[in-house]
Amino acid sequence: MKSGALFQYTRTSPYLRYIIAFALVAVATIIKLTLLAPIGSSTPYLLYFAVVLFVARYYGNAAALCSGFLAALAITYFFIPPLLSFRISSNNLLQVIAFFCECVFIAWLSNHLERATRQIVENQKRFQILIEKSSVGIMMVQLDGRIIYSSPSVTDITGYNNMDLESSDIWSFLMSEEITDVKEKFYSIASCPGRTVKVLHRVRHRKGSIIWVESAITNLIEEPLVNSVIINFSDVTERVIRDQQMEDFIGIASHELKTPLTSLKAYTQVLEMRMKKENNATSTILVNKIDKQINRVVAMIFDLLDVTKLQSGIMHLNKERFELNEMICDVVESIQNTTDSHQIITDLAPAVLIDADKNRINQVITNLLSNAIKYSPDADTVNLSTKIEGNFIVVYVKDRGIGISKSEIDKIFDRFYRVDRIRESYQGLGLGLYISYQIIAGHGGKMGVYSEESNGSTFWFSLPL
Ligand code: ADP
Repeated sequence: MKSGALFQYTRTSPYLRYIIAFALVAVATIIKLTLLAPIGSSTPYLLYFAVVLFVARYYGNAAALCSGFLAALAITYFFIPPLLSFRISSNNLLQVIAFFCECVFIAWLSNHLERATRQIVENQKRFQILIEKSSVGIMMVQLDGRIIYSSPSVTDITGYNNMDLESSDIWSFLMSEEITDVKEKFYSIASCPGRTVKVLHRVRHRKGSIIWVESAITNLIEEPLVNSVIINFSDVTERVIRDQQMEDFIGIASHELKTPLTSLKAYTQVLEMRMKKENNATSTILVNKIDKQINRVVAMIFDLLDVTKLQSGIMHLNKERFELNEMICDVVESIQNTTDSHQIITDLAPAVLIDADKNRINQVITNLLSNAIKYSPDADTVNLSTKIEGNFIVVYVKDRGIGISKSEIDKIFDRFYRVDRIRESYQGLGLGLYISYQIIAGHGGKMGVYSEESNGSTFWFSLPL
């Protein structure tokens, strides 16, 4: 490596450094003596400065000072009258001393320059190693998708070598059905310098197989030293396959469990009727409890099935036109029947007709009201209100419960996410909000929450009118 040659004096033995310094001064003196007749001795110092600089650069400060001292002696002896004598006038002595001081300055400067260069080379090498040994593929891409740099890990991940990559554009490695989606994400940040967008997509491996990669695309076009879009990506094929298998499993298991549970529920209802007829109060209470637990399991299974439907993109919305307030009153009534602890207070905007999937919107409101009751055990009211805001109807569900901390609020709409501190005390799968969010997004609406820990929460969602 070049830097090894640059800083070789650290490896040269100390004696050899002084010998080299002496030899260089001797060579310079011989050259100057040879050229003395044609060019005279009017510039006795110049060549020696070059020697001092060279020695300082490659053999260190001490050797440089030694060469400066030897050069001063040689100048005094050979080039300052009287020649071939160390006798010297005070004026000339001052000149020689000034020469030696300049040598010290040159050695000092050279030393600083060498340290700065070493630091730059080391930093460069460090970053080069980081990029080359990183398991994440790094590419520099122009706005038209042409690849201008690809790290060695890109070859490890995709199988394509530098020649394949640097003469092509990124679109040619994608699956045709995903090109539009990836391009959309890529160009969504084209006018926003510094922004990053993430996308999960497939890439055709050089050997023909298909791999899943997760790419982070960052717009550094306005960064003068980079001047391109940076794509970092890693191979997530194993994770995606594992997730798919998990989803398939959940889908099959939930589907298979649904049938026996439906029969079980029917049998419990028959049993409950019989117990009532026989006036067997204790057994009626027990069967009632069994029925409630079955309802909970059925609700969980429906949630799991919904998640698999959402993941595979087969959750269809059966939209119809209906009156929202009517539906809200039905949901409120049925939830109110299941609780004695809370009163649901409504404050509804004038009646509006919306085009939506009635069952799914019912599911969202049910989920928000059940959560509001579940997560406010010390309160006795929950509020449901609606407001017309522009072209949207917004539904608010407010509770005075445990609230959500700032650090967790962004994650509660994630799949299977549950706030850590409540896991033990409140049961649930962490799916209700995820499903609700997707249902609302599927209707072109938005969903969010205002909350503060220990200070209650207000969940809201909007639907286009
Ligand atoms: P589940 O209630 O089954 O855990 P959800 O998806 O409905 O799943 O809710 C996800 C998480 O969000 C809950 O585990 C809880 O921590 C938090 N959460 C939801 N609603 C409320 C609420 N009204 N007040 C406080 N925390 C809530």
